[in-house]
Amino acid sequence: MRISIKDLNKIYANDKKALDSVNLEINNGMFGLLGPNGAGKSTLMRILTTLMKPTSGSVKVNDFDLDKHREEIRSILGYLPQDFRFFSKLKTWEFLDYAGGLAKIKGKRKRRQLVDEWLEKVGLYEVRDRQANKLSGGMKRRLGIAQALIGDPKIIVVDEPTTGLDPEERIRFRNILSEISQKDVIIILSTHIVGDISSVCQDLALLNNGRMEFQGSPEALINKARGHVYQINTSGTEYDMIKEKYAVISTIPTNTGWEVQVVGDKIEAKNAVEIAPNLEHAYVYFMEYYLNNKN
Ligand code: ADP
Repeated sequence: MRISIKDLNKIYANDKKALDSVNLEINNGMFGLLGPNGAGKSTLMRILTTLMKPTSGSVKVNDFDLDKHREEIRSILGYLPQDFRFFSKLKTWEFLDYAGGLAKIKGKRKRRQLVDEWLEKVGLYEVRDRQANKLSGGMKRRLGIAQALIGDPKIIVVDEPTTGLDPEERIRFRNILSEISQKDVIIILSTHIVGDISSVCQDLALLNNGRMEFQGSPEALINKARGHVYQINTSGTEYDMIKEKYAVISTIPTNTGWEVQVVGDKIEAKNAVEIAPNLEHAYVYFMEYYLNNKN
């Protein structure tokens, strides 16, 4: 699968430019779309999932054009929006069966079998007879995952993947997605939380203020932050100064004060040791320093 986005713009009725000449290529595997709140991620995801039309620009999915082949694209799409809700009084299994119908799974028996398989996979088999809107938050999220995936989609879009999931459920969710990502599919994880995509995405893009500021591998982003991440052992008085001058990523108490990890352009402090950046460091460095220097 291949998604090709060219010069995409979205201007809302209030003149807000939510997407500004976005270009993006997405290939098979897990793709992370990262950006702060308000960056334009949901706008882009709503356009990709055919829920909204762009102001201008084009999106191609393989040889399909999003503007001309909406039905064809919908039929290979699985979408898990952030605020997935159940308005009906359907039981959990009935809801999934209904989603299977919408995904055009033919044959009642085959559909029922798939419903059972998915209930097992997401750990909801025991509660299959419970009314869907009475499930707990995490369970609802898991049912959302199952309804997005039951039709065997080729493109899967997940908005804010870990919202409402506890740590154990995050791992389960991650495993389900990694299993699927071995096939000819694209999985897009759209999030403002770096941890949602580190260690799972081969490719990522950074959206900021409607503009696509970076696309590449996590390693390529990390490389940009090399030489800009330091660990500082400090006492209480220096700490305020450090907080003011640099972006503080973490603070751990020690016997004598604090062990602080910071990113910044040029770091000059007593007891500062350069450390290797991880994706979170790189994201903060890129957003707070790199872009400012570039502009
Ligand atoms: P994200 O998903 O990254 O948080 P959004 O795509 O939701 O970002 O929003 C991008 C920008 O567009 C924000 O400034 C937001 O306030 C604005 N926006 C989103 N939806 C609408 C809308 N329906 N009408 C006007 N402005 C909108």
